Amino acid sequence: MVALQGWVNAKRVVGGIVFLEIIPENLVQPVTAVFKKSENRDLWKEAKKVKIGTAVRIEGEYSRVRLSKRGEEFKPTKFEVITPPVDILPIDLTGKTPVLFDTKLKYRYLMLRLPKERAIFKIRARLLKHVRDFLEKNDFLEVHTPKIVGAGAEGGATLFELDYFGRKAFLAQSPQLYKQMLITSIPRVYEITPYFRAEQHHTTRHLNECWGIDVEMGFISSVEDILKLLEELLSSTIEYIRETCKEELEILGVDLKLPRRPFPRLTYDNVIQLLEERGIKVTWGEDLSDREERVLGSIMKEKGYDLYFIVRYPWETKPFYIMRRDGYSESFDLDYKGLEISSGGQREHRYTELLRNIRDKGLDPMDFEFYLEAFKYGMPPHGGFGLGVERLLMKMLDMENIRETIIFTRDIHRFIP
Ligand code: ATP
Ligand code: MG
Repeated sequence: MVALQGWVNAKRVVGGIVFLEIIPENLVQPVTAVFKKSENRDLWKEAKKVKIGTAVRIEGEYSRVRLSKRGEEFKPTKFEVITPPVDILPIDLTGKTPVLFDTKLKYRYLMLRLPKERAIFKIRARLLKHVRDFLEKNDFLEVHTPKIVGAGAEGGATLFELDYFGRKAFLAQSPQLYKQMLITSIPRVYEITPYFRAEQHHTTRHLNECWGIDVEMGFISSVEDILKLLEELLSSTIEYIRETCKEELEILGVDLKLPRRPFPRLTYDNVIQLLEERGIKVTWGEDLSDREERVLGSIMKEKGYDLYFIVRYPWETKPFYIMRRDGYSESFDLDYKGLEISSGGQREHRYTELLRNIRDKGLDPMDFEFYLEAFKYGMPPHGGFGLGVERLLMKMLDMENIRETIIFTRDIHRFIP
């Protein structure tokens, strides 16, 4: 005997038989409980009157019959209603009527009864577990830095402001400054953290609260050490998901390919040239637009690459903490199928140079005093990256909209629920 706990998702009455599609609490696929009048009249009667959406507990056994699409068949011996619904479900979970995207986001917590929705978030959780395992194995220490901060790292326009006992504070856009400060004592740190970004985006690739895998490593020889680490992290993550989430990938209809290695290291100037060959003119010194990223994605796809780095950006496109070299910077972006999923680079660890960078970006060193001070006491050369969890998932699972990859969306229109 096994106990099945979950929700009634669909009911079909055919003659003397009631089929209840049950979404089990912890399985991805539904189970069909079959109640036969001829076998147990009382159970059959109970099952016949149960409402869609009810939380139930059913005891019985799996018969080895696999019903097409409806999952496995379950032979009940006991049936218990745990919680009947107070109202009719606001969405049709049988898949017969399509659910509008907006409705889906509003009722995401209910949509998660469906195999497809569950599969996404199971993969998300597995991905983060693997990232942790990988980084721990490579001697990185997980840290937590404050989310209420006094200064931003990526520019003022993108900060959410808040009142901190009468003083101005912000929600952290990234742990950038703090993780760098820690390099003076712990040379390998990482944090899996929310990023709060106040830009008024209307795109399918931006959220106002998203999650990042933020890594920083000290005693590096050059930015290449960071590229290698990120390449290894992504390759092993994709491999792990391919191996451990077969069922989930199948439910989603995703053919997740192992990336071709090594990931190409295109310079910014290479990219401009490639784009020019396709008739797209990029002004030198500007960041790549969404369209330019997508065209580059198709150029690289033709060459057989889903993942590729863009290195040596002009210094003006990058933040003050990046190391400068002859008008360029020791920075990089990592793009996956035409979308930036990570930015990183070697940081400026030399106190005087860092001070100059801050001034040259038109910022006030006084605002960064707490950060600058950490560079006075033997800061080793270091670098790292921020990798967007939702963007990575979106590209791995070939999704069109980043909102698919986070349970509760925070965008310009949505902060409830
Ligand atoms: P973009 O230029 O595409 O808006 P960004 O360069 O401002 O992104 P970074 O500050 O480099 O973003 O952040 C590191 C990573 O975090 C990005 O490569 C991306 O994967 C993710 N990320 C940043 N901002 C967002 C956002 N608003 N929504 C979703 N993911 C984001
Ligand atoms: Mg970036």
